Amino acid sequence: MSMGRSIITLLAILACCLQLGIAQQQQVQLIKLSERVFEVKGGRGATGGVVVGHEAVLLIDTKMDQTSVEQTLAAVRGITDRPIRYLVNTHSDGDHTAGNRYMPTGITIISHQNCRKELFLPGRDGRPSQWADPKMAEFIPSITFSEGLDMHLGTTKVELRYFGIGHTTGDIVVYIPQDQIAFIGDQVFVGRTPLIHAYKGGSSLQQVKTLERMLAGLPDARTFCSGHAELVNRDAIMQYIEAMRTRHQKVRQLIKEGQSLDQIKASFPTDQAALIEIIWNELYSGQ
Ligand SMILES: [Zn+2]
Repeated sequence: MSMGRSIITLLAILACCLQLGIAQQQQVQLIKLSERVFEVKGGRGATGGVVVGHEAVLLIDTKMDQTSVEQTLAAVRGITDRPIRYLVNTHSDGDHTAGNRYMPTGITIISHQNCRKELFLPGRDGRPSQWADPKMAEFIPSITFSEGLDMHLGTTKVELRYFGIGHTTGDIVVYIPQDQIAFIGDQVFVGRTPLIHAYKGGSSLQQVKTLERMLAGLPDARTFCSGHAELVNRDAIMQYIEAMRTRHQKVRQLIKEGQSLDQIKASFPTDQAALIEIIWNELYSGQ
C-alpha cells in the first residue's frame, strides 16, 4: 500500500470512529425545564418536547427514525407512568413528523390545519408525499385547528396557538402558561441561517409580522424552545425579527438601485444566498 493510500485508509477509519462517537452522543435525552416540561434532545431529527400533565403526557414533535422514537418513549417512561395520550406536530417538516409512524397506536395527533395540508404536498424534489399512502392515515394529525386550541391535561393547561405564515404556512406555538415556556418549532433559527420553505408557502415577509404577533399574543412567555437552537428569550426573538427586516430593507434598496439577483446575493454572506433569493422572489411577486 502506498503512503498516500494508507493515509486515506487511516482517515477513513478516523472518520468512522468520529461518526460512531457522534452517534453515541446523540442518544435521545430529556432536558428538564420545569417540573412538568422537558426538551427532547438528541436522536435523529429536531429538538422536541414533553409536557407531563396531571392526567396525561403530551409530546411535541417526533424524531425521524424508529430508534429515536423508541428512545424518546423510553425516556418518557423513565420520568412518569402517566399515559402518553397526545402528540402535537409544530409543523410539517420531516425532522419533526417522520417519526409519527413509530408512535404507539391510539395516540391523538394534533396540528394546525395547514400543517396537515402540507404533509400531502410533493417534496422539494417533486416526489409524491409518503403520507398519501392510506396505511399512513393513522399517523397524520386527526385533529386540526385554525386559530388556537386549549388542552387541559388535568390541571395542566397547554395552549396551541397560530400566529400566521412564516417558516411554513402551518407553524404553531405550544405554550405552557404555568411555566411561561413556548415551543415554537422552526419559526426562528438562532445561530444559523433562517430557513423559509417557499415551496410550502412559507414567507419571510409574513414571518416578521407573525413573530411580532406571537410576542404580543404571548406577553408572559419567557423561554422559547425551537427545533434547532438552544433556549432563547424574548430579546433573541426581537433580534431575529430585526435582522430579517434589515435584510428586507437592503434587498429592496439594491433592487431599486438596479442590481441583479446575483449582485444582490453577493452583498450578503454566502450561506444566506438561498434566503436572499427567497426574499427577492417575495419582493418581486409583490407580497
Ligand atoms: Zn426542523
